[in-house]
Amino acid sequence: MIANPDIVVIGLGPAGSRAAASAAAAGWRVVALERKSRAGRPVQCAEFIPAMLDQELEGLGAVTVQNVHRMFTFVEGEPGDETRDFNGRMIDRAAFDARLAEAAAQAVTDCRYGVALRRVDGDGVCHLADGTVLRPRVLIGADGPRSRAGLAIGQANTALVETRQIAVPLKRAHDGTDIFLRADMPGGYGWFFPKGAIANLGLGLEPRARHLLRPLLDRLHRQLVAEGRVGDEVLSHTGGPIPVGGRLEPIGGLRETVVLLAGDAAPGSPLTDASSSASSAAAPRSSRSRDGSPALETDPGPVSS
Ligand SMILES: Cc1cc2nc3c(=O)[nH]c(=O)nc-3n(C[C@H](O)[C@H](O)[C@H](O)COP(=O)(O)OP(=O)(O)OC[C@H]3O[C@@H](n4cnc5c(N)ncnc54)[C@H](O)[C@@H]3O)c2cc1C
Repeated sequence: MIANPDIVVIGLGPAGSRAAASAAAAGWRVVALERKSRAGRPVQCAEFIPAMLDQELEGLGAVTVQNVHRMFTFVEGEPGDETRDFNGRMIDRAAFDARLAEAAAQAVTDCRYGVALRRVDGDGVCHLADGTVLRPRVLIGADGPRSRAGLAIGQANTALVETRQIAVPLKRAHDGTDIFLRADMPGGYGWFFPKGAIANLGLGLEPRARHLLRPLLDRLHRQLVAEGRVGDEVLSHTGGPIPVGGRLEPIGGLRETVVLLAGDAAPGSPLTDASSSASSAAAPRSSRSRDGSPALETDPGPVSS
């Protein structure tokens, strides 16, 4: 692995994969790192993509399992409310992530799985779990809601919702996303998203109520079984934090190293904003730096840590 790449990308979720591919396409030497042994698994997503992202994301057709045309909102004690023309896709998120990661792996100088970023020093030097030390000009933190790169520049998601989700057999075809709002779901809501032969059934709550995730999700599951909408078998579990506190400052610096945050590391539009972050990081200016490589358009200059 080269010790002083132009750009190090941490995390090969959708944000990191798109950032890495964009930066490599702009001519930078990019090292991309992912702590898991493969991209996109386990899936931590309800797999719904709103139609408005169709223009921004390529290749969605190949990973679409079914389309959605409306949303039903169920507020406790009231009849369900239907929102028509609520269009989107239920995708195979594992396949989506794998395609993006594969494209990134093809484009970058070096792509490693099973290697975690352990620490970032105040001068931007990155220490990996396998003992490797990297000195990038640009560090892109696409390492999710609890980003180490974000922490290094003082940008941390402090408002998070905790989630639990199960996949269950779908008994009756459905073309809507259902949202459940109840007084006993503090700071969150339940969801039921159909995906072909299965459905993703989940619940998000504020962290102090995380002990309620399992019993409340079990109850929602039993309710839908009783209504004949889903089977009682649980096919898989997932979960994870979702940032809800709004956008963080996505650009910072550690001495000479520019730090950019993408995706859930600096929440915005996680599946789409990464390539624009990377492009702005990596866009060559007409001028060249002293070593002949493209100058950094977003270079904020030295920032003391
Ligand atoms: C239960 C649940 C349901 C959701 N449903 C939806 C939905 O329906 N639609 C939607 O658009 N969004 C949904 N989301 C949110 C969506 O999944 C995220 O916004 C999206 O995954 C963010 O992409 P990302 O690339 O920023 O981060 P991630 O996909 O989280 O990728 C970050 C990557 O960084 C890696 N990483 C982390 N730390 C390190 C480290 N130190 N070193 C190396 N690698 C590291 C991780 O292993 C991971 O692969 C849901 C989230 C959850 C938890």
